[in-house]
Amino acid sequence: MVSLIIHRNELHGPSHWKEVFPVANGDRQSPIDIKTEEAKYDPALLPISPNYDPTSAKVILNNGHSTCVEFDDTENKSVLRGGPLSGSYRLRQIHFHWGASDDIGSEHAVDGKKYAAELHVVHWNSDKYSTFVEAARQRDGLAVMAVFLKIGECNSQLKKITDRLDAIRAKGKQALFTNFDPSCLLPHSLDYWTYLGSLTVPPLLESVIWIILREPITVSSEQIAKFRSLLCTAEGEAACCMLRNYRPPQPLKGREVRRN
Ligand SMILES: [Zn+2]
Repeated sequence: MVSLIIHRNELHGPSHWKEVFPVANGDRQSPIDIKTEEAKYDPALLPISPNYDPTSAKVILNNGHSTCVEFDDTENKSVLRGGPLSGSYRLRQIHFHWGASDDIGSEHAVDGKKYAAELHVVHWNSDKYSTFVEAARQRDGLAVMAVFLKIGECNSQLKKITDRLDAIRAKGKQALFTNFDPSCLLPHSLDYWTYLGSLTVPPLLESVIWIILREPITVSSEQIAKFRSLLCTAEGEAACCMLRNYRPPQPLKGREVRRN
């Protein structure tokens, strides 16, 4: 996540993170494999309620490990409420995880099954904290809504993003991106699983309330291929494609996964 991550490549990939970030072996790491039979129905869990203002979208960028749309988070224009959350969580950015082929690429798994890709919609607790960076270090600081992407028909809403990837192919590139409401990428049903976890990239801070939507959205294989054509290298460097950028599932360590 912006200003919190280090470069991710094969030599410094997920299996090496524990050498620099001991919390990689912590008790609330993400992602996880969700065992649907073990997820506990909790009648107290409310529906989630995203309320996003399209004018808060600012830029789309390539940060060398994913593509990311950033939002103006200086006020509560775009917020997520409800579900397992207390109060308002302000929208900060969205980004994607994918793999080298269509059968693997999501970070979370469902009963051992991976999807082609996973969208993360990142919010921070603006009721209790004053900045994203401050919130990212608190146990209730962040709320990330995850959406699975499965292969099928072309997704016309995702096209708004994939059409811009040519403009930000190299690491460090960014382009204006406004009038965009990320709820256009949500499935029909907002039913979810929830558990307490972490960022899935260094520094792997254990500050995320995860809300994982159970219904996937559909995208085409060609759309995922466009993500793989992004470069994890800057202009002038030997080009290296972003073929995969997911962390594998981590141990549950006694945590409870709940569903609404
Ligand atoms: Zn992510």
